Amino acid sequence: MTDTLFALHRGTAPLLVSLPHDGTHVPDDIAARLTPSARRVPDTDWHIARLYAFARDLGASVLVPSHSRYVVDLNRSEDDVSLYPGQNTTGLCPLVQFDGTPVYRDGAAPDEAEVRARVERYWRPYHAALRGELARLREAHGRVVLWEGHSIKGELPFLFDGRLPDLNLGTAGGASCRPALQAALEDVLAAQGAYGWVANGRFKGGHITRHFGDPGRGIDAVQMEISQRCYMNEDSFAFDAARAAPLQALLRTLLETTLR
Ligand SMILES: [Zn+2]
Repeated sequence: MTDTLFALHRGTAPLLVSLPHDGTHVPDDIAARLTPSARRVPDTDWHIARLYAFARDLGASVLVPSHSRYVVDLNRSEDDVSLYPGQNTTGLCPLVQFDGTPVYRDGAAPDEAEVRARVERYWRPYHAALRGELARLREAHGRVVLWEGHSIKGELPFLFDGRLPDLNLGTAGGASCRPALQAALEDVLAAQGAYGWVANGRFKGGHITRHFGDPGRGIDAVQMEISQRCYMNEDSFAFDAARAAPLQALLRTLLETTLR
C-alpha cells in the first residue's frame, strides 16, 4: 500500500533530477489484472534513485515517483502521441512489456475512461510538481537544468536492434537545451574511455525532456538513458554497487558540468 505519489527533495542548486520510472508500486486492483511476468514490473528503471543518490550532495532537487510505469507512464504525453513514430514503443498506460508480451491478462486492459482517471490521479500531480519545482528554481537562479534520469535493459529486440550503447544522451535532437551545454556534456563523455555513448541515438529524450525543455526561456532539459548492465544484473534486477561506483563518478561529473 502507498498513497504517496512522489517524493520531492527541494535542493539549492539550479538543477532538478527527475526519475519518472523509478517507481515499482502497483495498486492492488490493477496488480490483480496483470500477467504474472508483468507483476514483477520488469520495465522499471531499476535502482535509478539509488544510482543518483549523490545528486543531493550537489544541491540538486530530486523528484521520484512511487508508482510503476504500468500504472501510467509519466514520460508520455497525456494524449498518448507516439514518442517514436514508425518504431515499436510503449504507451501512456502500456499494454505490452518491453519484450512484446502483454501487461494485462486477457480482457483486463484498462478502457479509455480508466486511462483518463489514471492520468488525473497519478500523472497530473507528478507533472505539476515538475512544473512547480522548475519554476521555483528558475525564479531563484534565472536558469535551471532538468536532468531526466533513465535506465533500460541493454538488449530489447522488440524496441531496438542489437546492443544499446552504455550511455545515451538525449536532447530532442538539440532542441531541449543550449548547444553549449550539450557540447560540454559531450566533452565529458568523450574524455572518458570506460563507457560507450551516443547523443540523440535511439533515445532522443522522452515526453518530459521535449515538453519542459525550453532553453530560450531558461530551462535546459537533458535525458540520460543508461544501459542497466552498467550498474546492475539485468536478469536478477540486483544492484551491483561495485559496478555502479565508477558510473556514479561519471554521472557526478556530468551533473557538475550542468552547474558550471
Ligand atoms: Zn525510463
